Amino acid sequence: MKVTDHIESSKGKTLFSFEIIPPVKGRSIQELYDNIDPLMEFDPPFIDVTTSREEYVYIDREGLLDKKLTRMRPGTVGICASIKHKYDVDTVPHVLCGGFTKEETEYLLVDCHYLGIDNVMALRGDAMREEKYFKPTKGGHPFALDLVAQIQDLNCGKYLHEVIETDDCSNFCIGVAGYPEKHLEAPSLKSDLIRLKEKVDAGADYVVTQMFFDNQKYFEFVEAAKEMGITVPIIPGIKPIAVKRHLQLLPQVFRIDLPQDLIDGVEACKNNKDVRKVGIEWAIQQSKELKAAGVPVLHYYSMGKSDNIKAIAKELF
Ligand code: FAD
Repeated sequence: MKVTDHIESSKGKTLFSFEIIPPVKGRSIQELYDNIDPLMEFDPPFIDVTTSREEYVYIDREGLLDKKLTRMRPGTVGICASIKHKYDVDTVPHVLCGGFTKEETEYLLVDCHYLGIDNVMALRGDAMREEKYFKPTKGGHPFALDLVAQIQDLNCGKYLHEVIETDDCSNFCIGVAGYPEKHLEAPSLKSDLIRLKEKVDAGADYVVTQMFFDNQKYFEFVEAAKEMGITVPIIPGIKPIAVKRHLQLLPQVFRIDLPQDLIDGVEACKNNKDVRKVGIEWAIQQSKELKAAGVPVLHYYSMGKSDNIKAIAKELF
């Protein structure tokens, strides 16, 4: 079932969902299940599974370093299929421009269609770790907008090789990313919103936001998006702070601001166990206010650990 259909059939009730990351290559999927199990009592209608960019790893060959390009957390579509099968829940694979040619994207979408996956999240992806700026993959897409267009084409039965005859079209519901504090490369929030509108006009059905810690930023973003004519659901993404280092890391990586009260609370903690409690409490207060404002879904970034998400969900769902 489509994410938008879940939202529609909830009739204004806020839904619970979360995002997981595939295990590092070579690790068991059981670890993932162990973190999903405790969250299933909150009845998520869908679970997102991220896709990681490829990266360079260095293998020591008797003193000489062999540089290899690899994806350390593969398996997004397989994990989506296995979760869907195991828990009878919809899954949303994240599909990236970076690291994929258009052909590879088409194969991936065909796999998703055969597996009965109804939703995909269309993202550009970040720059590779070694690169300062995002470089489009040769034969791939430069922007999420182009990926949305490819998915939409497939929904209309149009493959990359236009001569292909189709009697079975996909009907993917397409999610895209939105940034209440603007994307780090965007020259302004307004220009970023114009880009978001382009994605929606190209066929995106809903938006999931980057994490934010000040609800006012989300409310203003939704208002500005509406004024621009964006009428699709905008799902807030929530991440509980878990370690002290997040105070530097999150603003650095995502270019987001943290409220002073949260910073003070985290800085006063003696250890990361206490930081985790502060992060949970902040996320509960944030979630309660968002729920009261009638957001369609509260979507949590679990980063592979469920104890804090469970503690938050217990207070809300
Ligand atoms: P785009 O929408 O393409 O925008 C990228 C930048 O280009 C923006 O600054 C935009 O304003 C600008 N822009 C857009 N179109 C144009 C144009 N035509 N001309 C000029 N500028 C333009 N990353 C992963 O690697 N894996 C994941 O699984 C993943 N999941 C995510 C989930 C969510 C909910 C969010 C919010 C982000 C996620 N990301 C993920 C991170 C995301 O890939 C990065 O933020 C990336 O840098 C931008 O992706 P995008 O889809 O927003 O890109």
